[in-house]
Amino acid sequence: MARSASRNGFLHALRLRCPACGRGRLFEGWFRMRPRCPACGLRLEREEGYFLGAMLVNLLVAELLCIAVVALLLVRTWPTPPWQLLQWGAPVLAVVLPTLLYPFSKACWLAFDLLFQPPRPEEYERSAPR
Ligand SMILES: [Zn+2]
Repeated sequence: MARSASRNGFLHALRLRCPACGRGRLFEGWFRMRPRCPACGLRLEREEGYFLGAMLVNLLVAELLCIAVVALLLVRTWPTPPWQLLQWGAPVLAVVLPTLLYPFSKACWLAFDLLFQPPRPEEYERSAPR
């Protein structure tokens, strides 16, 4: 049961739902993660500094995507690349992409962690609001 829930955890995470139960919304806003899943009561920040790795992965993936977009544009338009567009577009993309990916990186980080460390009973709060 827990294992199949974990496999679906990434699908739930991509929908910004709790990877453990698939029901609770993880975020109150784009940047504000709830402390617990509103459906199952799972504590989302499992330990102090839990999402630091998620931020690192987010930045890494976003900047690699940015580099890939710029490289693709250069290759496709060579020998006359749109330098003006690249000059302004690349820095904007470098800021926008990590912002767009922010909640997904945290949700996927949680799903990945739950895959290897299933939630313990003490991580749930039974009196969680529905
Ligand atoms: Zn949940």
